[in-house]
Order: sequence, then structure tokens, then C-alpha cells
Amino acid sequence: MIGRSVLVTGGAGFLGSHLCDRLLGDGARVICADSLLTGTIGNIAHLIGRDGFRFVQHDVAMPFDPGEPVTEIFNLACPASPAKYAIDPLHTFRTSVLGAMNLLDLARAHGARIVQSSTSEVYGDPSLSPQPEAYWGNVNPVGPRACYDEGKRGAETLFFHYRQQHGVDARIARIFNTYGPRMSPDDGRVVSNFIVQALTGTPLTVYGTGAQTRSFCYVDDMVEGLVRLMAAPAPAHGPVNLGNPGEFTMLELAELVLAKTGSPSRIGFRPLPEDDPRQRRPDISLAGRMLGWAPKVPLSEGLDRTIAYFAERIHQGQTGE
Ligand code: NAD
Ligand code: UDP
Repeated sequence: MIGRSVLVTGGAGFLGSHLCDRLLGDGARVICADSLLTGTIGNIAHLIGRDGFRFVQHDVAMPFDPGEPVTEIFNLACPASPAKYAIDPLHTFRTSVLGAMNLLDLARAHGARIVQSSTSEVYGDPSLSPQPEAYWGNVNPVGPRACYDEGKRGAETLFFHYRQQHGVDARIARIFNTYGPRMSPDDGRVVSNFIVQALTGTPLTVYGTGAQTRSFCYVDDMVEGLVRLMAAPAPAHGPVNLGNPGEFTMLELAELVLAKTGSPSRIGFRPLPEDDPRQRRPDISLAGRMLGWAPKVPLSEGLDRTIAYFAERIHQGQTGE
């Protein structure tokens, strides 16, 4: 009987690096596999050389041989920012679909449990709010976000059928917008953009009128949810929403960041990107029932911690990668 040996793909990214920290803290061995497309060695520098941690540079679109038995796999490998996943949409699609297939094959071969980081993007521009797992979504399959949204939907299908056809213990987390320290300053997502803009005195780029909403979850809460999903007895249900139901307009977020940073920046409106969802808010009742999980960190507190992180980076002159 081997101890816990956990493969974290995308482990050098924002969410993945926090997950690696948590798993090592829980006493697991951790293999972190990442292509370093949007993640950085800087995110895991404190783990390199630590007992029980191993980093491997690898693209999950290709099959992966960990070289040792693994008992659990968290598949987080995929660029998550619309600005980043649109740079090479075909590779984003390959990452989601071929990556999921390669890792499911690995889970099957090792008898490992596997958790997929799916996304609220599977709901597209939703026609109901909050979004429960039973909602099938409203996704444009041929728009600029399709490589990500449909890639993640395809990955969910693979998880469903590997479970059904091959008995793989495959679980799906539908992650809603998550933020916190170690987001890349040039990542392009709204929380990091607004904070970096406020701290550097440049205009906050609100897309459209800023009336669209998102629900923001602090990274520690998300890691707790992912760990609980992996540890839960085999779930009878399919995907599980993980996110913070607190819903804000982008204009509210901009004003909150300006107030917290005391920044002299103004708000500059930019065109709304095509297919940008108008609203997003998770129904997390299933996660509550199944995992006993609910987020604890309110946006105001999570923003304070994230602003402190970016302020330190900017102070050190590390504003880009
Ligand atoms: P991130 O960009 O910081 O991390 C993604 C990591 O995956 C990076 O380290 C990147 O280098 C790596 N990667 C990308 N393509 C790869 C490939 N082909 N092979 C190996 N590694 C690859 O983003 P994040 O916010 O940490 O997101 C992590 C996961 O969670 C992603 O799968 C994302 O889709 C999912 N997710 C995140 C959010 C969020 O709000 N943060 C929301 C929904 C889903
Ligand atoms: N957004 C914005 N300004 C920015 C970046 C994003 O107003 O500088 C908006 C974007 O149009 C979207 C919301 O903020 O409505 C969240 O965008 P993000 O890229 O963070 O995540 P996603 O759209 O994938 O939820």
C-alpha cells in the first residue's frame, strides 16, 4: 500500500500552486506537471527541492508517464484567462480534450481517482441565475470563447463516459471565477487587471457598461472545495459547482478596488468582448450537501489579501512575467 501520491497538472499556475501547497501540507507526495504556458516556476519556487515535491515540465496534450504510481490526479492544466486562451485556440482545445483523455487513461491505468477543473463557462451566457448543475448552458460553439467553453464541455463528456464505461472514479468541479495571490499581473482577468491598474495609477479598463456580473471566490476557499471533492465518498451526482455566490457588477468591483487602494485612477470604458456572459452566480447547494463546503472569505477580505500581494510584487518591480 503506497501513501497518497498526487499528480497536479497545471500545478505551476495560480490555483494549482496553492493546491500543491495544501497537498504537501496534508502529507501527500506531489508531482506537479506543467508546460509553463501561463504558470511560472516563481509560483512553485518555494517548493522546489522540498521533500515529496517533484516538478516535471510537460504538455498534457501529450500522454504523461509519471514514472511512479499515482493515487490521485487533479487536472488543472489549461489557460484560464480569455486573453490567454484565445492566443492559440486550437492548442487550448487540445489541452482540454486531449489533456483530459490522456489523464483519464493515466487514472485508469493507475486505479487513481481524478478531479477535473471544469468551469462556470460551461453555462455560457446563462438564461437563469443562479446556475444549478442541472442547467445545460447557453454556449456559442463557434465564437471566440468556444475553444475554452466547448473544450471544457468535451472534457466533462470524457469524464462522464470514462466513469460510465471504464469505472474510473472521475469527478468534475465546475469552478466559478476565483482570484487571489499568484495570479499573474499580466493575466488579463478582471481582478488582477483592476488591482494592477489601480496600484500603478492607470485607468481601470471596464469592458462594456460594467453592468455584467461575476461571483468571485477566494483561492483558499476554492482549494478547500477541490480537496473535499477528491476526498468525498464516490459522488452519486455528476459535476459540482464550486464558487462564492456573492454577485457583483464589474463597475462595483472597479469602485471597490479604487476605494481599497485609494488610487487616483479613473475608470476607462472599453468595448465589451464578443460573447461575454452577462451574469454568473453559482448555486452551491449541492456542494453544501455533498461536501459540507461553503466559501468563508468575503470579497472585501480576499481583495485586501490580493491587493497586498500585488503591491509587494510591484514594489519589487515584478509587474510582468
Ligand atoms: P492559470 O493560467 O494560472 O493556470 C493554468 C496552468 O496550466 C498554468 O500553470 C499553465 O502553464 C498550465 N497549462 C496550460 N496549458 C497546459 C498544457 N497543455 N499542459 C500542461 N500545463 C498547461 O489559471 P488558473 O486560474 O490557475 O486555472 C487553473 C484551472 O482551473 C484551469 O484548468 C482553469 O480552466 C480552471 N478554472 C479556473 C477558474 C478561475 O477563475 N481561476 C475558473 C474556472 C476554471
Ligand atoms: N473585464 C473587464 N475589464 C478587464 C477584464 C475583464 O471589465 O480588464 C470583464 C469581462 O468583460 C467580464 C468580467 O470582467 O465581463 C470577467 O472577466 P474575466 O476575464 O476575469 O473572466 P470571465 O469572463 O472568464 O468570467
